[in-house]
Amino acid sequence: MAALTDARRLVVKIGSALLVDRRTGALRQDWLTSLAEDVAWLKSGGRDVILVSSGSIALGRGVLGLGHGVLALEQSQAAAAVGQIRLARAYEEVLAPHGLIAAQVLVTLEDSRDRRRYLNSRATLETLLGYGTIPIVNENDTVATDEIRYGDNDRLAAQVAATVGADQLVLLSDVDGFYSANPAQDPTARRFDVIDAITPEIEAMAGDAVSGLSKGGMKTKLMAAKTAVAAGCAMAITEGSRHNPLRTLSEGATATWFTPQLDPQAARKRWIAAMKPQGDIVIDAGAARALARGTSLLPAGIRAVAGRFGRGDPVAILDEAGHRLGQGLTRYTAEEARAIQGCQSTEIESRLGYPGRAAVIHRDDMAL
Ligand code: GLU
Repeated sequence: MAALTDARRLVVKIGSALLVDRRTGALRQDWLTSLAEDVAWLKSGGRDVILVSSGSIALGRGVLGLGHGVLALEQSQAAAAVGQIRLARAYEEVLAPHGLIAAQVLVTLEDSRDRRRYLNSRATLETLLGYGTIPIVNENDTVATDEIRYGDNDRLAAQVAATVGADQLVLLSDVDGFYSANPAQDPTARRFDVIDAITPEIEAMAGDAVSGLSKGGMKTKLMAAKTAVAAGCAMAITEGSRHNPLRTLSEGATATWFTPQLDPQAARKRWIAAMKPQGDIVIDAGAARALARGTSLLPAGIRAVAGRFGRGDPVAILDEAGHRLGQGLTRYTAEEARAIQGCQSTEIESRLGYPGRAAVIHRDDMAL
């Protein structure tokens, strides 16, 4: 079973039901304050922490007086616009006393489907973590329309965890784990401590129950678990309504942990290696030796570029004899790569007419 204090990079998903009082529609301020204490404690141990927080719609609907019923899409989008600004402010205010800076990041499903946008959000999150901030992520509900939205933050959180190569994801929920059946309906339902493989039997147990204020039921949590473990990230489902829910979890609160078979870096390399390349980049022997030592591919070592590809596309890396060395995600289009092949990184700007990144393929985006 994973221990929270072992995490290097942790993503925590916070459900609406924990943040917003269902009856009054008000923010549960004391609980949020206790969560901020936990975040500060985890940060002080040198970990990166990203929060994926729901609650914009739940908060905004109260402010707009939209009642408790089902909302039309445009109503929930309006509620999200009103609620998100309050949500972000609330995080900013509870984190500030700990000297922590909150950063709001709003994403849509397309940001992970489009590889260029995916790489860009990955780079931005990485930069924010580098500055020591706490990214507070939510879906950009005001622009995401029905067909192109996650709709639930369980899967969004798993995608964020995969994007940033997190090693642990915690879903703070209103249930304390994954059960063999719905515990509210079946007295024989039992909770799993650890799930090492998401088998068809496990999937059949998820049903499609939806709980309270939040959008996600066990089904979305299981889908999240699949995404997380495939990316080498362990995932926990635990009940989060008690104060200091993360410290409570680390002290042994009941939970279900889904364990991955690979670490995040190995999982990412496998993901890159499995893509269909859109072109070839031929490199010289010096560059091949440098890549084998774990460096990024710079323009200087490129001899030839074949095919048509855009930024973020997978390309094969070949030696001059045509042997395949591996593949990676390119940061330049085929035309740009041709324009800068063989040149020093300092010459990139004069060749392209605009500044560009030093590496054509960054080592994190390469599988050899
Ligand atoms: N993005 C939605 C919100 O902030 C929540 C979706 C969910 O509950 O999973 O209100």
